[in-house]
Amino acid sequence: MRTYHHIINGQDVKGVSQQTLAVINPSTEKTLGYMGLADQADVDAAVAAAKAAFPRWADTLAAARAKILFRWRQLIDDHMDDLAHAISEEHGKSKTEAMGSISRGVDVLEFACGIPSALKGEFSVNVGRQVDSYSLRQPLGVVGAITPFNFPAMIPLWISSVAIACGNTVVLKPSERNPSTALLLAKLALKAGLPSGVLNVLNGAKEAVNGLLTHPDVKAISFVGQTSTAQYVQQTAVAHGKRVQAFGGAKNHALVMPDADMDSTVDAILGAAYGSAGERCMAVSVVVAVGDQTADTLIAQLSPKITALKIGAPTEAAAEMGPLITKDHLIKVKAYIDQGIKEGADLVIDGRLQTVPSDGYFLAGCLFDKVSPEMSIYQNEIFGPVLCVIRVSSYEEGLTLINNHPYANGTAIFTRDGNSARDFCQRIEVGMVGVNVPIPVPAGFHSFGGWKNSIFADHGMHGMEGVRFFTQLKTITSRWPSGIRQRVEFSLPIVE
Ligand code: NAD
Repeated sequence: MRTYHHIINGQDVKGVSQQTLAVINPSTEKTLGYMGLADQADVDAAVAAAKAAFPRWADTLAAARAKILFRWRQLIDDHMDDLAHAISEEHGKSKTEAMGSISRGVDVLEFACGIPSALKGEFSVNVGRQVDSYSLRQPLGVVGAITPFNFPAMIPLWISSVAIACGNTVVLKPSERNPSTALLLAKLALKAGLPSGVLNVLNGAKEAVNGLLTHPDVKAISFVGQTSTAQYVQQTAVAHGKRVQAFGGAKNHALVMPDADMDSTVDAILGAAYGSAGERCMAVSVVVAVGDQTADTLIAQLSPKITALKIGAPTEAAAEMGPLITKDHLIKVKAYIDQGIKEGADLVIDGRLQTVPSDGYFLAGCLFDKVSPEMSIYQNEIFGPVLCVIRVSSYEEGLTLINNHPYANGTAIFTRDGNSARDFCQRIEVGMVGVNVPIPVPAGFHSFGGWKNSIFADHGMHGMEGVRFFTQLKTITSRWPSGIRQRVEFSLPIVE
């Protein structure tokens, strides 16, 4: 049985809290070990370590910080297998999906390695007579990072690599469902030469989060999780004077036009809806089919592929879809299926009837047709292998439907027509848009972020948005003595 310790000031620390929580393998339902749930005293210790490390780290040359990040990147590559194993064991996703998610995290770490260039300021000569002005971006201080269960490596890397590269120090609170990956990442960062206290990892749940949200020495909070938690985190942290970015849930629509290349659209939707058991914030969970013929063709082609999906633990090499994260979550997803039937949707494929491994929180793929906007399966994020098809009669009706949904993380249009695609990109009210690309997650040097109830923030994650979030702007106006005596000014000068 494992014991999961916090990492505070470069050390494995048991913590003072006596409260513990079991970490469970969702594929076997077996307990892997226990972790201490950080309380206020543990939060105080982690924040104090980060605060003590901040002045020196902020003063370290950006290029020297980048060198450490390069080494961290290499070590992650060297330990790819261990990291992927930890993700698969505690999350349940396949090893290939785990590796893919690590590489998307590394993508942002690579962007962070170029931080000297991203931190370049601006300079204007002669903004007044012999007066120059320049701006620079400086780190904030201690940053709290609170991350969800579904990407145990990618999201901690997205947040911490940019925050650290910018000169901040971090207290990372990973999901209590799967803490191992964040702990391993932090150990690799220490091995790469990251000074103690720059990246601390705190195991815990709500109490640890509240400790960070209200702590006077925490300057900013970067959060990813469900919308209800994101809203709570944003409101609480703002009320305590912090800069906040909180990313929430999603209901991502794929709009399929009658002229779409159906074979590749079907494959794209299959992977985007059922990959990682639908537990991705960018998963496609609704297909909006324009015209009955489009819907009928799509369902006819999708159905046999859904029932053929190989469901199993990530230890089985052939498994394409693993379990859901917890028993409670499995129950919740099944309750949505019952509700969908009750509300009149047509359950074309009932994954509950398919044979799945007897241990573990498995559910095979489900497909609903004839879903309508007022149904709870349409309005809410299910976060499981359940795809809804909504039939609309025109492109305009589909566009309006998507724009009326309160979630607006990602979306995609499938078409061969450039004009429809261009119009969609211009008029759709969603943060990340794909054209024949089902999961349009931006590359590390672009920025990630939805709109509406999928985000409570002014800045997106990573890319230049991440740099802006993790730094504060300072603008300096300077005049050097030229020997000419300045006259006393009592009024603002008029620019001539
Ligand atoms: P969650 O909101 O339950 O948990 C996220 C984090 O918040 C965890 O670290 C957890 O310990 C903490 N937390 C949970 N409840 C809390 C509470 N009441 N008070 C304070 N802290 C609390 O989310 P999850 O189930 O781990 O993750 C899945 C969700 O995350 C989905 O809704 C998914 O769409 C979303 N997500 C969004 C993005 C995005 O970029 N928009 C990315 C990944 C996941």
